[in-house]
Amino acid sequence: MSIFSNQEFDNHEGVYSFSDPSSLMRCFIAVHSTKMGPASGGTRFWTYVSDEEALTDALRLSKAMSYKNALAGIPLGGGKGVIMRPEESFNRKDLFTAYGKAIDKVGGRYITAEDVGVSPEDMQTIKAETHYVAGLEEGIAASGDPSPHTADGILRGMEEAVKYKIGVEGLGGITVAIQGLGHVGYDLARRLHNVGAHLIVSDLNKYLTKKAKEEFNATIVSTEKIHAQEADIFSPCALGGSINSDTLPDIQAYIIAGAANNQLFDNSVGLKLLKQGILYCPDYVINAGGIINVASEISGCYDLTWVDGKIDKIRSNLKEVFEKSARSRTPTNEVADSMAREMLR
Ligand code: NAD
Repeated sequence: MSIFSNQEFDNHEGVYSFSDPSSLMRCFIAVHSTKMGPASGGTRFWTYVSDEEALTDALRLSKAMSYKNALAGIPLGGGKGVIMRPEESFNRKDLFTAYGKAIDKVGGRYITAEDVGVSPEDMQTIKAETHYVAGLEEGIAASGDPSPHTADGILRGMEEAVKYKIGVEGLGGITVAIQGLGHVGYDLARRLHNVGAHLIVSDLNKYLTKKAKEEFNATIVSTEKIHAQEADIFSPCALGGSINSDTLPDIQAYIIAGAANNQLFDNSVGLKLLKQGILYCPDYVINAGGIINVASEISGCYDLTWVDGKIDKIRSNLKEVFEKSARSRTPTNEVADSMAREMLR
């Protein structure tokens, strides 16, 4: 396994690996850039088929965090922690204790928060070992679960996209197909229902889809068909890579706007979306609400007004991306990348 020849290596400032045999904790912490401030991004706890796959995820996601934080205008760089879920049985508390010690050894160059597979209890376990953790439920300036703020930003981004694409104000009567009803997806469904949107939903977890049907009158479809629905907006809120050569030909929505990181299987998918006339809201532009909320906690003095202002900037950031994309006939993902790179230069 090589770091420097990994396709996702982008002159990261630092890549750390830690292992603790007694708890079976093995992780990578990738610090992409600290130019804008200490590197920050959530920790992912996931089953990886190989070390290489976990490293690749850490490298790719940490770079996206640098781009996300720069465009969101928050004083944080980009980093990501990735813990490989052990195949053998393990003690969760011991594992996250070892991970907390690992973060502490990086000495503040990386500040973690929650991502897929990590719970608020895990965050408290990490907190017992290091100061370099945010998105906490308790303590000075604690900002809590970032997910509702992520959902808030996505809703505002959807409004901007609908206004740009079809000249309509608001999301009343708009149909949104949501893939994944987890922390962000479910909150987003509630917000969309409250503003009069129609919902089509899917999740591997049948309890969540049933609940959404009862609460929001959502139509449930299978996880294989959610991308192919007759909807105005397709909203990927599960894992990355859901826009790929298999799903692309079936997408009927004219806007893609969701929470998942790395929604495009690779960069070339952006051009195909442009050619299909689908307006893609770059993932790290529209899903920045959660890290904006975390940034306020990291500053040491939580300020909801500041958070609200920064989340609202997602609208103008998207508008700028859409307009530049239209002018230059360049895919929106490439436009956002070059805007972020310019800021990090
Ligand atoms: P989560 O783990 O709470 O929810 C994910 C949901 O997707 C789960 O309910 C899961 O059952 C479902 N799912 C998994 N595979 C699926 C499939 N193939 N089809 C349908 N559903 C599927 O995660 P979350 O915190 O809601 O985050 C969702 C995505 O948004 C992740 O990619 C995450 O990295 C990204 N994100 C989250 C935040 C945040 O604030 N939580 C911020 C930015 C980005």
